[in-house]
Amino acid sequence: EIAMTAVAQDLDADGILTLTIDLPKRSMNVINAEFGADFEPACKRAIEDDAVKGIIITSAKDSFVAGADIDMIFPITDAEQAMNAAKDLAQGLRALETCGKPVAAAMNGTALGGGLEICLACHYRVAIDDSLSGGKAKIGLPEVKLGLLPGAGGTQRLPRMIGIQAALPLILEGKELNPAKAKAAGIVDDLASDRDDMMAKARAWVKATPKAQQPWDQKGFKYPGGDAKSPKMAQVLAIAPSMLRDKTKGNYPAPENILSCVVEGSLVDFDSAMTVEARYFANCVVSQVSKNMIGTLWFQLNAIKRGASRPDGFDQYTTKKVGILGAGMMGAGIAYVSAKAGIEVVLKDVSQDAADKGKAYSEMLEDKAIKRGRSTPEKKAALLDRIDATDSYDGMADCDLIIEAVFEDRDLKATVTRDTEAVLPETATFASNTSTLPISGLAQASKRPEQFIGLHFFSPADKMPLVEIIKGEKTNAETLAKAFDYVLQIRKTPIVVNDSRGFYTSRVFATYVNEGMAMIAEGVPPAVIERAGLQAGMPVGPLALHDEVSLSLSWHIMEQTRKDFEAEGKDFPKSPGYDVVDTMVNTLERVGKKAGKGFYDYPEKGQKHLWPGLKEHFPPKDSWDFDTLVERFGTIQANETARCMEEGVVESVADANIGSIFGWGFAPHEGGTLQYINARGVQAFVDQCRAYAKDFGPRFEPAELLVKMAADGKHFEA
Ligand code: NAD
Repeated sequence: EIAMTAVAQDLDADGILTLTIDLPKRSMNVINAEFGADFEPACKRAIEDDAVKGIIITSAKDSFVAGADIDMIFPITDAEQAMNAAKDLAQGLRALETCGKPVAAAMNGTALGGGLEICLACHYRVAIDDSLSGGKAKIGLPEVKLGLLPGAGGTQRLPRMIGIQAALPLILEGKELNPAKAKAAGIVDDLASDRDDMMAKARAWVKATPKAQQPWDQKGFKYPGGDAKSPKMAQVLAIAPSMLRDKTKGNYPAPENILSCVVEGSLVDFDSAMTVEARYFANCVVSQVSKNMIGTLWFQLNAIKRGASRPDGFDQYTTKKVGILGAGMMGAGIAYVSAKAGIEVVLKDVSQDAADKGKAYSEMLEDKAIKRGRSTPEKKAALLDRIDATDSYDGMADCDLIIEAVFEDRDLKATVTRDTEAVLPETATFASNTSTLPISGLAQASKRPEQFIGLHFFSPADKMPLVEIIKGEKTNAETLAKAFDYVLQIRKTPIVVNDSRGFYTSRVFATYVNEGMAMIAEGVPPAVIERAGLQAGMPVGPLALHDEVSLSLSWHIMEQTRKDFEAEGKDFPKSPGYDVVDTMVNTLERVGKKAGKGFYDYPEKGQKHLWPGLKEHFPPKDSWDFDTLVERFGTIQANETARCMEEGVVESVADANIGSIFGWGFAPHEGGTLQYINARGVQAFVDQCRAYAKDFGPRFEPAELLVKMAADGKHFEA
């Protein structure tokens, strides 16, 4: 029986020791205890054994090393433990790079995070350039995306290698480069065509370099472009913190810690620099922000992609041909993402001209992609070839999925449903991209309501990562499974919700905009409101957003809701922003961006700016508590999400959290709307809601579900 080992050792006749990382029972290599248990003794032998003249580190998988095992880091809440977590690897790598023997990294694929840090500690790096064979390999330090930073020397070696100015954006933004770009950036020394070529180059380098030393361990070493004290860098670094702060609003400790690591680390010797990094790393690991981001953007997102909300018992379905009704803004975007995923598309509109216009959108996007090196003329031609723009239903006869994206009009949608079903195969799924009309109602026009479902895309469909899948009353499990598989097929993230007014995303998103309206009504100055929205972590202020979606649309929906209530004989609960929208739309006729005037003015030349006239119509008060404004924005959305859970509109914590971040840009550092409540503690959140209800109105009354959870000492579990 062969013992399973995570790092195989092979010493050849030339004295070259090849360490091949190959974690048992894992599709990718990660840095965890099992890896460490084998890697550290292997490094020790490499250093101490005189028979070893040089070392090559590579992997047996089709990628190099994907990074540190998040399972290991996530539970750590103690700073000292966090410091120790990275220490063994960091010290092992330091011993290796200072042992005098040449060490080469043979990067046979993706090297991210800790994986790249191993390579950076080597004296030479050669990577397989797989750009001709699909190009999957990624090289980078993406830790920041989960609220962390590279803790095994990444923040120290990369700037010493390529300079502070080139290294900073890579670490701060967690950029992932393909091998060719990594070579151009100076992160790898050479490219290879395949594994044999890579190993040959690594071996040749080791043989030609009997003694190796890192530049930063050589006498008289200077940072490329200068260290933090150099006059040029000092100038850059004087403004870097404020530029960073402008982006993060102080909500993200990791980027600030990264900047500190790079700057402070450049002012001391390498070993002290490693201590600096370890401390900032520990600070990130134990931060609430990294817990929020890892919990949602790693564990919950992975669970969604593995199909947590997909019904069991149905084989994975591959959509081959999709019919899209309506080649407008949404239809055109959906056609593009489908064709890009290799699916045949029939794009139908009322006229050939309108359909062609929709297809032209794909052409435009591909031209842009070619300019950026992300596509080729061949790929563009093949993609466009897959889109059949037409004014007829004929092409729908062999579609397995229809996505309806015509005007938001119930009767029109019913007509196109009937007309399509006349030619559609009986097995096909029919989906509507409606943003407001209940799916169960639309399904009444269908012969097969159990095969009718909502696929709510966000605008622009080619960019936005989320699709909200809406189950109608009669939608069956197989239809849901097929729709779910289609969303993954087009490389988007699906969440699954039940049919209800505004579904999940639009309903909760609306509370953010409405809270902005309420603040206007209270006399908070508009610029302060916008600022508070951004500070809460939202991508755009509520007033700017309202201009985008159009105030006339809001007014229309408010009036419709009022009429619906009155028809049912109920009292209409006038929202606190009702009068604001009424004034804006009906008195001032400032309906939003499309009209060129809303809360903002949109001059033809120059940037939009808040309309100065607002203060006459909504006289500002002269004091407010900024932090409370910020907290109100998060609280109102989190509480509404809890109500959606209570009513069964959303059924999974992961769907709620991911839906909020990917759907309408809810603060990523909070980990989503339900994690917002967890992080504060359910009881504390309930108390805050009650205090706000007293000060600002009953819309803040905590969801019943939360009151009960608080009493039972529970929190949301994914
Ligand atoms: P749009 O006005 O840009 O496009 C609608 C298209 O449907 C037009 O090109 C029109 O010619 C076409 N059309 C009308 N009757 C048709 C018929 N009988 N057969 C084929 N095509 C027909 O609208 P849009 O913004 O793309 O919205 C489409 C749907 O998507 C609506 O239900 C809307 O609520 C929903 N939606 C929109 C957004 C958004 O942000 N715009 C977001 C999510 C969902």
